[in-house]
Amino acid sequence: MYTLPTLHLTQIILRRVKIPLHEPFRISSGAVSEKECIVVEMRADEGVGFGEASPMGGSFYSADTPDSTWKALAEQLVPRLAGCEKLRLQDLLSVFEETPGEPFAKAGLEGAFWDAGAQHLGRPLFELLGGRRRPIPSGVAIGIYPSLEELLARVERYMREGYQRVKIKIQPGWDIGPVRAVRERFGPVPLMVDANAAYTLRDATVFEQLDRFDLMMIEQPLAADALEEHAELQRRIRTPVCLDESAESLDALREILRLGSGRIVNIKVQRVGGLFNARQMHESCMQAGVPCWLGTMPELGIASAQGLHLGTLENFIWPTDVEASARWFADDIIDPLITVNRQGWIHLPEGPGMGYRVDREKLQKYSTDTMVFDL
Ligand code: MG
Repeated sequence: MYTLPTLHLTQIILRRVKIPLHEPFRISSGAVSEKECIVVEMRADEGVGFGEASPMGGSFYSADTPDSTWKALAEQLVPRLAGCEKLRLQDLLSVFEETPGEPFAKAGLEGAFWDAGAQHLGRPLFELLGGRRRPIPSGVAIGIYPSLEELLARVERYMREGYQRVKIKIQPGWDIGPVRAVRERFGPVPLMVDANAAYTLRDATVFEQLDRFDLMMIEQPLAADALEEHAELQRRIRTPVCLDESAESLDALREILRLGSGRIVNIKVQRVGGLFNARQMHESCMQAGVPCWLGTMPELGIASAQGLHLGTLENFIWPTDVEASARWFADDIIDPLITVNRQGWIHLPEGPGMGYRVDREKLQKYSTDTMVFDL
């Protein structure tokens, strides 16, 4: 592993970026039709790095929105860095500690810091994070559709594209039927469901029925804070429960592991406030013998690429939710775009940092607002 260099910051540029989706993304708590994020460009004497702060519009996974994250970056976090002549990772983490919440904003700033460090060292990001070069298995996530036929058509299409597992979103009234339909049509494909916290323990019979379908896992069946209830549900079913929304911090993860709330953890860099925290969570899971996988919110290319580098660490065992750039987004700002091959693997490009280059023309084209901070 490499030690991250100290950066002498000169400038931070925030850009708000908006890219349309091919089709609306619908889950149990809402729908969105365009992807917004904030691209953080960190300029230092040592090099230039990019990060992405990527809350969903409509705030359906968390209370953070592109507006609130933009404000946190522009009014709190970036001004606090103005006093840091030399910035080490621990300095950045101290600034984060002084600012409660704002995991997306922190993930964006930290991503830029790691990228600038990796650029300066001329090494790929995964080496700095303690990973190794390996292809990442990719799975597809399929939202909620008005009819079973529309769902089955999507499953067929994405399986043909090579994805290594299919995840379908469920909610009360759209759970056993869709799973049975997928099993009947496609047989023993690697299949899992994600409830995005839409049920309570009173619905346990739904999960007892889903238990018969040989699912890889049931992701976040109950509320984020229902850790005891998740443990109770896990005792009642054979299928592994995977925690996603519940795994929002290292403290929450400790409780999950102590209580046995599930057997798998989905780690999302954005939700947990950056690569450092996400890596710590990966370590805790590994020590506890709990495998994890890398989730997405989903993010655009910069954050997805950095997540993939983290996803090369050894305890990321199950397929990632990071999909091909073209799966959701009409375009992206990285070059090359993220692609998934016919066998469902993502290969990271060679080169320092992310391996993917930020396309400045596209960055310009899709920016709706820009703020420059001279430090
Ligand atoms: Mg999930």
